[in-house]
Amino acid sequence: MSDGTTGREDGTTEHENGTTEREHVRVAVIGSGFGGLGAAVRLRREGITDFVVLERADSVGGTWRDNSYPGCACDVPSHLYSFSFAPNPDWPRTFSGQEHIRAYLEYVADVFRLRPHLRFNSEVKMMTWDAEQLRWEIETSGGFLTADVVVSATGPLSDPKVPDIPGIDTFPGKVFHSARWDHDYDLRGKRVAMIGTGASAIQIVPSIQPEAARLTLFQRTPPWVMPRVDRAISGAERWLHRQLPFTAKMRRGLLWGIREVQVHAFTKRPDELGMVEKLARRNIARAIKDPALRAKLTPDYRIGCKRILLSSAYYPALAQPNVDVVASGLSEVRGSTLVAADGSEAEVDAIVFGTGFHVTDMPIADRVVGADGRTLAESWKEGMKSLRGATAVNFPNWMTIIGPNTGLGTSSMILMIESQLNYMVDYMRQLDVLGGRVALAPRPGAVDAWNDRVQERMKRTVWNTGGCTSWYLDANGRNTTIWPGTTAEFRSNTRRVDLGEYEVLRAPRPRTENPAEKLEAGA
Ligand code: NAP
Repeated sequence: MSDGTTGREDGTTEHENGTTEREHVRVAVIGSGFGGLGAAVRLRREGITDFVVLERADSVGGTWRDNSYPGCACDVPSHLYSFSFAPNPDWPRTFSGQEHIRAYLEYVADVFRLRPHLRFNSEVKMMTWDAEQLRWEIETSGGFLTADVVVSATGPLSDPKVPDIPGIDTFPGKVFHSARWDHDYDLRGKRVAMIGTGASAIQIVPSIQPEAARLTLFQRTPPWVMPRVDRAISGAERWLHRQLPFTAKMRRGLLWGIREVQVHAFTKRPDELGMVEKLARRNIARAIKDPALRAKLTPDYRIGCKRILLSSAYYPALAQPNVDVVASGLSEVRGSTLVAADGSEAEVDAIVFGTGFHVTDMPIADRVVGADGRTLAESWKEGMKSLRGATAVNFPNWMTIIGPNTGLGTSSMILMIESQLNYMVDYMRQLDVLGGRVALAPRPGAVDAWNDRVQERMKRTVWNTGGCTSWYLDANGRNTTIWPGTTAEFRSNTRRVDLGEYEVLRAPRPRTENPAEKLEAGA
């Protein structure tokens, strides 16, 4: 460099006089999925350009980059599953496939000029709060940096969960998780075991069933599955949305409104969902003629307790002669023999785990060390807990996008992400107004009050009363993932940062130089 400094690969800058200094940014965003890219757009719109987006992979997209399994698609309509500030009049189908959503996120990165902020291959290894300097020290696989504020947008569905099955090491064939699909492995003519019956598995099963010689589905709990009415969006509709953007807005508004009125049944009157169960039972009966198979596939808990799945192809695929449904979880592997908890066995060449993600025990929590020297995972040992889904006690100037109790059972997560981005923007404004080297630390009382309210409301919801276990509940049985209200309500709860809920931390003023000390030191 011509200014007498040298930029080094680990993020430090070496000066001519031999001293080194770390790169410092105002905001470090972690993750470049919907949450991270959304944060980047909103920061730029606020006029904040001194930020980086740290991404462990080599491209944007988050969960929509990592999940490329056959049949991967979104079960929320495209016009609702996109940013309000980046409408896409050209969605080709009512429900988008993974490749369309991934392309959309690449487009967002380009159009909003986010590329200069992106740091690929930069996995966060550790983040530690520096209480003296009031900033985060961040170690990544690409180097070190410090940041005033961290926006953690790692997402709840980013780290695959594979159950610890005894004997799995003895399996001689191919094994992979739905979110780490091995596209080089040819399933044609193979005996394949699909483990799990969640949203991923029900999309994979109909996509691989025609290829596999035999498909054995290990179903621990049957899901409720409703038909998915997917169709191509016509050229005329797209033209209309391009020419008259308010028509796309109206479409989005309608999709949002329909889901918003459904919330009441999920959160306050789960019995009303009995009517939906009738439709779902009819959906099973339409495709499954064998009464024994129908019995296996019919859930015994209230619909909505687990995520309601949408597919018109799942049951027809299960009715095919090359498919076996084992109504029991995988409990052991003995060489190429898979053994279910009920003792039934299957010989297979490949195992596909559709067993979900580390949601309530997200690995990033082990890598964040707060003001009291404990990790976020240690602080959340009794369950995830934050203020308005964003900030946590002892973690000043650190916030999550899709934090605790911000998930949805019924609508588009992009709506919740945008609410959290509103909160993030107001947080940055508050820091500006306070001025100087300053940080905000949520007060324990405010965090408890928020969580008590959320948990009180949770008691009546279908997720807690519906008679199932799901990934919405943590190891202690607490629902720390779902928001028990409408998206509109969450929006109004996150519009502004209430400074009364925070302690304002200020860095000690640098000591004024004492000439006497200087003399003593022999200067
Ligand atoms: P998931 O919903 O957590 O499902 C995991 C499945 O694995 C469950 O059926 C579980 O059974 C089963 N399982 C775990 N251990 C097992 C064992 N030993 N034997 C047999 N089965 C076992 O995971 P996911 O399907 O990947 O979906 C996760 C989330 O991703 C979804 O809820 C959704 O939010 C999102 N997703 C969305 C879409 C979309 O269209 N937007 C598509 C895919 C995924 P139990 O039910 O008994 O626990």
